Amino acid sequence: MRPEILFPYYTSLSALKGVGPKIAPLLIKHVGPTVRDLVFTVPSGVIERPVTTLASAISGLTQTVLVTISAYPTNLRGPQRIVATDATGELHLIFFHKIRGFEIKHPVGSQRWVSGKIEIFNGLLQMTHPDYVVAESHGGDIPPFEAVYPATQSLTSRTIRRFVQSGLTTLPNLPEWLGEDLLQREGWPAFNTALQGVHMPQGVTGIHPGHIYRRRLAYDEALAHQLALKSRKANRQASPAIKISSNIWSDRARDSLPFAFTGAQSRALDDVRHDLNSGYRMNRLIQGDVGSGKTLVALMAMLDVAEAGFQSVMMAPTEILVRQHYEKALPILESLGVNAILMTGRDKGLVREQKRANVAAGLASIIFGTHAVFQDGVEFKSLQLAVIDEQHRFGVGQRQKLFQKGDSVHYLSMSATPIPRTLALTVYGEADLSILDEKPPGRQAIHTAVIPRARLNDVFKRLKTVLSTGAQAYWVCPLVEDTAESDLMAVEARYRELSDVLGAEVGLVHGRMPPVDKDTVISRFARNEIKLLCATTVVEVGIDVPNATIIIIEQAERFGLAQLHQLRGRVGRGTDKSACILLYDMPLSKNAQARLELLRDTEDGFLIAETDWKLRGEGDILGAKQSGFPEYRFVNPVSHDDLIAMASREASYLIQKHHDLPRARVHALDILRNLFDWRLDVPDKAD
Ligand code: ADP
Ligand code: MG
Repeated sequence: MRPEILFPYYTSLSALKGVGPKIAPLLIKHVGPTVRDLVFTVPSGVIERPVTTLASAISGLTQTVLVTISAYPTNLRGPQRIVATDATGELHLIFFHKIRGFEIKHPVGSQRWVSGKIEIFNGLLQMTHPDYVVAESHGGDIPPFEAVYPATQSLTSRTIRRFVQSGLTTLPNLPEWLGEDLLQREGWPAFNTALQGVHMPQGVTGIHPGHIYRRRLAYDEALAHQLALKSRKANRQASPAIKISSNIWSDRARDSLPFAFTGAQSRALDDVRHDLNSGYRMNRLIQGDVGSGKTLVALMAMLDVAEAGFQSVMMAPTEILVRQHYEKALPILESLGVNAILMTGRDKGLVREQKRANVAAGLASIIFGTHAVFQDGVEFKSLQLAVIDEQHRFGVGQRQKLFQKGDSVHYLSMSATPIPRTLALTVYGEADLSILDEKPPGRQAIHTAVIPRARLNDVFKRLKTVLSTGAQAYWVCPLVEDTAESDLMAVEARYRELSDVLGAEVGLVHGRMPPVDKDTVISRFARNEIKLLCATTVVEVGIDVPNATIIIIEQAERFGLAQLHQLRGRVGRGTDKSACILLYDMPLSKNAQARLELLRDTEDGFLIAETDWKLRGEGDILGAKQSGFPEYRFVNPVSHDDLIAMASREASYLIQKHHDLPRARVHALDILRNLFDWRLDVPDKAD
């Protein structure tokens, strides 16, 4: 139930004073349906309107002057030029439309404050379409600093600002939900003061992420989000699940491997086993660089579950990946007599029916699958564990659907996308985390070089040499959007050229090929029938061909750092020396150069993620979205990472101490949560 005090926040914008039936839909489309959405729209900038005289006006700046209207034009055709003066000079007010109404409101001889951009044109001072023209006694209506809002074709910044101001006047003061100590320490004002402050900045720095008003609001938002995440976590941790305590099969499987688990793998498996045996539902994320051995840890957990007599499922986002998981696991599973099934969208007719029947009857203990497993006709006999690889590639709703196929299903997810630690609190706040920060021993460093595309011929030569030793290679071209026709042509052209130049078997794979064809090519590459795989980023996740020792990435500057790092992880999987060549096009921006050099200098995925994040800068909203960030209004994940960490700690504390808190505080926190209203179940992404 939403607290009554918040009703004004949730009033529809169409009910706001001055918002007529024509403008309401425009405004709602732009900012959202309610007054809250309007006042939670953070200004994108601040205009300063210093007061000046005409003699000291500066051309090109927005300024405010007190003038006397002294003459109207006599010719009513063309642009209208009104002459205004002060004691120091003359200013022409220019309008490109009729000015009859203006003339009545501001007759010759009247004193007016005018504000707008002043420019010198043909030696004359002029102001085109002033932002403000107000009577001398109303100078206070012109703000010395004016918040600027992202505008649209039909909504100007000033219109939005007017409605924001009007919206703010309808809002009640809210009780304080933050502790006195914190407010004191940070010097933060009350919520309402901070909100008003952001919309009525007292200086050009008034909306900066580092400003105390903005930080207060960002903290509130982060805290509300963390409270939502942490209370979900607490609920989950209190929801009973079947205890799984077996580990004979998995220990046997582990002993039969030709290598030993890394310390990090052992620790992660211990974490998982602890969760499985706790009697409560697990939700754990294993985060680790490509090749750190996540899949194997998950497989051990699945064996524990199988030994206990239950089913588990391992999902991966693509057919290729899941098939690879399945094929690698098969020898281990067969030696233990564990039945596994591979379920993909490719299964049709009788085969599909048979597989489904086996799963429903419990004849298969471990199911490897793609999205096909979510489907309605798929039923399990006793699903107890769901493992999801590259979990961010699946929607929340899809995962939910999977969990509904069993009773209190344990959940283990895996991600190779390293993100900075504090930021993980936001993206994965609900899960417990195990980090694989150790590479299996014996891996060779990948030698990375950054080279301009002009040296393509050298690269071809190098490639020939590598292939002549019997090794395989990847050649990656950017195909950022499915719609980029030119990119597609480029990768096809490169494929033909490589086929000509190398005289070796070259394969082509890109995202727009039918899945069956893609798989065929990749399988042939895995069987060493194809020597060079020319590809778009479809090879990014998971493909494991240890005999491939060189990867060339064209137009590397167009990729994200984390993505390049993942691509590079396609090589260096065996014991042979591997190389990564990053080709770039000139001119290379300073930032792009820094990014590529970082990649050249380190293989530490977490360091790369951290730096990538900082180099992206504060403006990279898209990057934030791709990393799985929620759509924050006040929080800027780059500038406010300290606040996110603080909020996470405080949320844990508050949820733990919930019963000991004064009632007023509990009530205020409830208001906070409703004010930000985090809906954690975001809609599914398209497959
Ligand atoms: P990830 O899923 O983290 O990318 P995988 O589990 O697919 O990593 O492992 C990558 C490769 O390393 C696989 O071929 C796997 O058999 C191998 N591997 C896993 N753990 C070890 C280990 N401790 N020592 C040596 N090789 C390992
Ligand atoms: Mg993997």
